[in-house]
Amino acid sequence: MVSLSDQNPLSSFSCITIKIGSALLVDARSGKLRQQWLNSLATDIAALKSRGVDILIVSSGAISLGRSILGLTGQTLSLPRIQAAASAGQVALSEAWRDALAQFNITTGQILLTPNITEERRPYINARNTISTLLDLGAVPVINENDSVATAEIRYGDNDRLSARVASMIGADCLVLFSDVDGLYTAPPGADNGARHLPVVKSITKQIEAMAKGAASHLSRGGMTTKIDAAKIATRSGTSMIIANGTTTNPLAALTKGAKHTIFPAKQNPAAARKRWILGTLDVKGQIHVDRGAANALLGGKSLLPIGVTKISGEFEHGEAISILDPDGVEIARGLAGMNWEEANLAKGKKSEIIIGMFGHMNRTELVHADNLVLIATKGISP
Ligand code: GLU
Repeated sequence: MVSLSDQNPLSSFSCITIKIGSALLVDARSGKLRQQWLNSLATDIAALKSRGVDILIVSSGAISLGRSILGLTGQTLSLPRIQAAASAGQVALSEAWRDALAQFNITTGQILLTPNITEERRPYINARNTISTLLDLGAVPVINENDSVATAEIRYGDNDRLSARVASMIGADCLVLFSDVDGLYTAPPGADNGARHLPVVKSITKQIEAMAKGAASHLSRGGMTTKIDAAKIATRSGTSMIIANGTTTNPLAALTKGAKHTIFPAKQNPAAARKRWILGTLDVKGQIHVDRGAANALLGGKSLLPIGVTKISGEFEHGEAISILDPDGVEIARGLAGMNWEEANLAKGKKSEIIIGMFGHMNRTELVHADNLVLIATKGISP
């Protein structure tokens, strides 16, 4: 017999990114918000949050809403008009999410991203800090692409891949893509009677990619191909991804009761993936020598505080990679700087109480926050 938790694909996740396509939120004919559907999703989100699950929303719909707000429906739009529609629509989209979740006393915060934010280290870390601070404060970040300024060369263009980047950025353990299909099929279900639904895709093979090419999803800008691209980004970084049908009301509740879906299980856990990114991707811009107390604190999983720093060399900016050395000069960790080199030099050896307010623009007192730090195994332990 199958128990309820076996049927619930979300039961083991504690941080879930949910991607909502335009056509789920905006009625194609009227260009108006599908308010009842949004309210039902807000009910589901509140239920998950009350169980301690962090939720992030990646919501499309700005351009669709903006078209009707600006009286531009039923016509092909020039790029400046699309961007104007995105601008007007984003205001309405943000308000819609704020009001829907406010009914459950949940606060929202808006973040608009473009690839030059998510692919460059400093803006990436900055955006990640903002999003994780919102989550720490119990809010739901509502994210979209900054369509009104994104240029053709520097844009995601689809929120499938954007949501995967966001989920991996934040270390979410699950990404749910709601669209008009209940997952991946071996062939287009309408056209081929032998089409078989795939409940689990453990690895994205050439065969899986070929299946995605054949599948159409009229509600989603990206179709199935961008969903498979999203699955690659997500699973590689430690985020499991689910494709599910979001067209009915209470789509999250339906999923928790076992509604049909395809899951792409993560390849590893999110913390490891983020730390691997720190170890593997970045140039080291500075060296931080620490005292024994700080070295032990780091090995115990703590953040690096300036009080334990004895010497700093190199010039680094906030968010850049730095290396941390113990009193014997052995590199024990790498991390992303929470301050630039000038601030770090001023803060060196000082207590956190003194550092607060020292730089005016920030209240952070860690030179490297534990979340941005990876220990380097020494003495024969393989990294
Ligand atoms: N960012 C676009 C919007 O808000 C949607 C992109 C997508 O649907 O994938 O209208």
